[in-house]
Amino acid sequence: MKKLKCKYCKKAFQPVRKQKLTCGQKECQRKRKKDYQKEYMQRPEPREKRLLYYSEYIKRPEVKKHVQKYFQMYYQKKKKASQLVSSV
Ligand SMILES: [Zn+2]
Repeated sequence: MKKLKCKYCKKAFQPVRKQKLTCGQKECQRKRKKDYQKEYMQRPEPREKRLLYYSEYIKRPEVKKHVQKYFQMYYQKKKKASQLVSSV
């Protein structure tokens, strides 16, 4: 197999697998992952799937409790912040 150029650091490297696009450095792998996630999020189909999964997920009783707790914390913080602003 011939050498390829890493998409991120531009160094030449010997690919172990055909699909490999980075040289294998941690920094490049991280960038690759980030890019992939960006791509993935932009696809309309997975977004719907994700939303569907999420809406199912928060319906679970143990998760619902947790989410409510989180929202309460969030609103309390918001309230405190607005009180600080109004007292100035
Ligand atoms: Zn690289």
